[in-house]
Amino acid sequence: MTLPLDPDLASPVSAPVDPDTGAPLDCVACGACCAEASDGRVLVSAQDLGRWRREGREDLVAATVDGHFGERAFASTPDGDCVHLERGGGRAVCRIYETRGETCREFQAGSWQCLEFRRARQRDSSAASAASRSR
Ligand code: SF4
Ligand code: SF4
Repeated sequence: MTLPLDPDLASPVSAPVDPDTGAPLDCVACGACCAEASDGRVLVSAQDLGRWRREGREDLVAATVDGHFGERAFASTPDGDCVHLERGGGRAVCRIYETRGETCREFQAGSWQCLEFRRARQRDSSAASAASRSR
């Protein structure tokens, strides 16, 4: 499997490995895919919206925006993080993990998209470090 921010993936025993570094993919220490939520990119299905309404989670329905392909999507922060991502102490955790949407459940750690998000985050981080050293 392979769900984003699945605490099980934090285990170096069961986690898939990053081919760039050989390190286990630790979603809880990463969150790169959840940081790509700007412009309505993390889609929310009609099934998710219906399920949340049945669960009494109108707050989650209200926290969506217009997304790509005429669908709804998770709202994002000015930094591009999904509004349900919580960062702190070197961790990146989904606040709604138990009831997150289909898009999030189906996203696979170790997929090419996952690795692209991780590489992009690494590039951004390296660029930020270089900029701060040149000041
Ligand atoms: S980018 Fe990959 S490793 Fe990082 S949180 Fe998402 S699924 Fe996990
Ligand atoms: S709902 Fe959770 S798993 Fe899905 S993008 Fe937002 S923070 Fe990530």
